[in-house]
Amino acid sequence: MYHQPVLKHRRTLLERAEKFTSDIYFTDCNLRGRLYGDTCSLDSLSSFLSPKRITFSEAVKHTFQPYTVGDSFGPTWWTCWFRVSLKVPDSWRGKEVHLRWESDGEGMVWKDGEPVQGLTKEGEKTSYILTECLQDNKPQSVTFYVELACNGLFGAGLGSMIAAPDPNKKFSVQKAELVVFNRDVRELLTDFEMLVDIVKLLGEGEQRGFQALFTANEMVNLCDPANPSTFAAARSLAQKFFKQRNGESQHIVHAMGHCHIDSAWLWPYEESIRKCGRSWVTVIRLMEKNPDFIFTCSQAQQFHWVKEWYPGLYSQIQRFVQKGRFIPVGGTWVEMDGNLPSGESMVRQFLEGQNFFKAEFGNYCKEFWLPDTFGYSAQLPQLMQGSGITRFLTQKLSWNLVNTFPHNTFFWEGIDGSQVLTHFPPGNSYEMKGKVEDLVNTLKNNKDKGRANHSAALFGFGDGGGGPTQLMLDRLERVADTDGLPKVRMSSPDDLFTALEGDSGLLCTWTGELFLELHNGTYTTQAKIKLGNRQCEALLHDVEVASCLALCHNKAFSYPAAKLQEIWRLLLLNQFHDVLPGSCTEMVVDDALEYYKEVQSTGTRLLQEACGALISGGQEGACPAVLNTLAWERTEVIQLEEDTVPPKLALARVPSVGLAVVQESAKPSCPVTVTTQADCTVLMENGILRAVLDQKGCLVSLSLVNTNREAIADGCLGNQFVVFDDVPLYWDAWDVMDYHLQTRRPVVEVMKPAAVTSSGGLRGSVCFSLRVSGKSTITQEVILDADCPYLKFSTQVEWAESHKFLKVEFPVRVRSPDATYEIQFGHLQRPTHRNTSWDWARFEVWGHRWADLSEHGFGVAVLNDCKYGYSCFQNTLTLSLLRAPKAPDLHADMGSHRFTYALMPHMGCFQDASVIQCAYNLNHPLRLVPNASNLQLLSAFSVSADGVILETIKQAEFQKNALVVRLYESHGGSTSVTLSTPLPLREAWHCDLLERPDPKHRADITASGISLHFSPFQIRSLLLILE
Ligand SMILES: [Zn+2]
Repeated sequence: MYHQPVLKHRRTLLERAEKFTSDIYFTDCNLRGRLYGDTCSLDSLSSFLSPKRITFSEAVKHTFQPYTVGDSFGPTWWTCWFRVSLKVPDSWRGKEVHLRWESDGEGMVWKDGEPVQGLTKEGEKTSYILTECLQDNKPQSVTFYVELACNGLFGAGLGSMIAAPDPNKKFSVQKAELVVFNRDVRELLTDFEMLVDIVKLLGEGEQRGFQALFTANEMVNLCDPANPSTFAAARSLAQKFFKQRNGESQHIVHAMGHCHIDSAWLWPYEESIRKCGRSWVTVIRLMEKNPDFIFTCSQAQQFHWVKEWYPGLYSQIQRFVQKGRFIPVGGTWVEMDGNLPSGESMVRQFLEGQNFFKAEFGNYCKEFWLPDTFGYSAQLPQLMQGSGITRFLTQKLSWNLVNTFPHNTFFWEGIDGSQVLTHFPPGNSYEMKGKVEDLVNTLKNNKDKGRANHSAALFGFGDGGGGPTQLMLDRLERVADTDGLPKVRMSSPDDLFTALEGDSGLLCTWTGELFLELHNGTYTTQAKIKLGNRQCEALLHDVEVASCLALCHNKAFSYPAAKLQEIWRLLLLNQFHDVLPGSCTEMVVDDALEYYKEVQSTGTRLLQEACGALISGGQEGACPAVLNTLAWERTEVIQLEEDTVPPKLALARVPSVGLAVVQESAKPSCPVTVTTQADCTVLMENGILRAVLDQKGCLVSLSLVNTNREAIADGCLGNQFVVFDDVPLYWDAWDVMDYHLQTRRPVVEVMKPAAVTSSGGLRGSVCFSLRVSGKSTITQEVILDADCPYLKFSTQVEWAESHKFLKVEFPVRVRSPDATYEIQFGHLQRPTHRNTSWDWARFEVWGHRWADLSEHGFGVAVLNDCKYGYSCFQNTLTLSLLRAPKAPDLHADMGSHRFTYALMPHMGCFQDASVIQCAYNLNHPLRLVPNASNLQLLSAFSVSADGVILETIKQAEFQKNALVVRLYESHGGSTSVTLSTPLPLREAWHCDLLERPDPKHRADITASGISLHFSPFQIRSLLLILE
């Protein structure tokens, strides 16, 4: 030692090491200042600006104009293509030479017509390595292209990340030059960074931190930045420290490269395609240099995009998939929202995803992967198990605002009892950087210490893509086994979960939903997206049912499997976790609504074709028929012609999954009457319900005629619109905060008082209008149909608010500690009180087509045709209708909205009162089939008990002469049923959600049908082979 013993002063030593590597201070003499050596300007740089995203071959046909570094270009969302010509100086032989490229926007280097690397300053990728060691024989003149997207990793928010994008942003290249890169300096800088971080993160309580401090200080003593021959001694000191190993018991961190790419968010879908290209080609470059590097990659849709747009890159990816290094994971079409998609949509996410992965890469995924989604349905464990998946990874519950989720590694049990092994990476991130901080947090935050000794750490820039960097890999490599830090190994999801499974005896179980205590506004934001999703789900259901009926009844009909897959995939794409939740920019909303339109127009055409095949031979002017796609007989009032005044109505009676000709003379058991009473209230009756509305359209009373049981709470009004101030803390489109409840204001200003618009017969209706504010109005038609057990509220809202939340309330005469909400293939209860912080945090919850509040013997359900946000506090059931956030879409939800909800009081429990069936009916209106002469009464399927619902009837994926039917137990009880069908079946097999038959589980077909046993909420799929 040539120096004096150091003073006992931690701060000076620590800051000395920091300044030695600072990129701000003392760069004239410190180590950082030596990272780059000589520079040389480019031979030429020229550019061409395109308003559209175009292919490479199209781009290079254009004329490129000279570009001077510093010149600005744009605007936002355009693309600037650069042609870069350079010559490496001869004198740089033996040196590592980079193109140093610093620009705004996201860049991609193209060479010889192929994408070769991403260049994005925000993603710490500013170097394109031309050579690691310049040789004599290599050509030193090179020309290549840089495709520069005029948007950042996170779009182009004006003022803040999530603000609406600035459409007029200008971009520039700040640096484009050749530079000698000093690899030895880079290595030493990384050593210093890791040591300094260890000092900081282990703190003064750990002697290991002091060892790192003295090591770093000694390295500064040894290292002369101006004299590279001194570096080796400093490096060996660092290596000695890093190689001091842990004991056997140390926690093991499974590091996996990752790159979370939102399929659309603050940028449109089209840009995500390029994000995938830029990010993944960079991953391939890193894999070529780092033989141990493993990368996990989710979302079949993104693989599909890359296959179409970057076929050369895709085949490189396929090669690394085969080597087990580029690992497809997740098993779904996209990382969908975990709450709002229907049960069947979630099945299709897995079906389309798993089939894609199997076809492209030879294997199904074993893990479900949803790190960034806003809550997880309690039905997911069963859906995973049915799709060949037993493991689940997310981390989003670390965002809970109120309660800390108590586990990181645990078994998650769904409503049917299915379990999956679940892991939340304790570092609470899916975009770590391989830093000491990530490792220390992983260790410290792990809530299953002693129960699970393995954790995941996902590293790589994410959300907007970017992915891992060489620096991240270098950091992790240094501390693979360093005393004081957890052990780190490059690993795969399979290795992690296998290790966790191997020692799972002490793990706890969490039963029920994984509710995210944040982002509760996403159940309501972007009402048109929610409407599109619900309507398309219903339409695709109906198209599949009708097409199966047509397939079985008309030999000439061919099932539109390819078209259906196409539109299913569009619907599934829109279920991405920033689209369906409504947390995206206006451009994405426009794209999404366009996709829904496409699904609707194609779906409607397919439905017409299937119905046409069913009634082939029908004559012009013959009676219409009605199609019922649901598996129970229905008697409903239908409108025969659109837009006729008064509407031409009929009472249709249609068998289960069938068609029937409309008998225009059919009479209801009791006609509807609507009368204005002396006190100006309006009385509506249909023999089942008796409703009294006041002038404001509020329900003064709603009672069941037979029992005279009143549904509306004493002295309260039902159908009460209320507006709240809705200003969250930051995440505008995402969050509604608990304090909004303190700003409740009833909507009371009447524009048009309630007046009878249809006095009865088959349908009675009352209309009224209210003013919400100077800019917003509500017009509602309250409809009571003959033989219908619920009162419908057909609603039109002109909405021009800012940061307001519109809801409708139903204070009911029911006392219960829990309300029930429909979820995928089932339902669950949530408390109506606020005893604990866990109860309180669920002040705004999600549900699907219905929610119910019941006490013993009586209850009230709210049904809806496109809403997902609910709340129920004490005895008030509330449906959330519209929000008005301003970021990231400045115009979110502005304009006209139409939706329908309904109120259904009932005796007994909601199961026995057929609330579930009524909600289906509201969402699947009977479909009119014109010109159906000589039609036989047709019913293709029926189920012997109400508790089991036949949800899906489709053609099998891989067998043209087979159908797949999916049923589920909806009441939450064990039951046995018979599925009957007149269709000629050769055999029937139980199968999983991927439609793989279980060879040990043949379904017996008897004269009465197929007998099936169900446990509570069990989903069963059958493969029916037709004769
Ligand atoms: Zn995301």
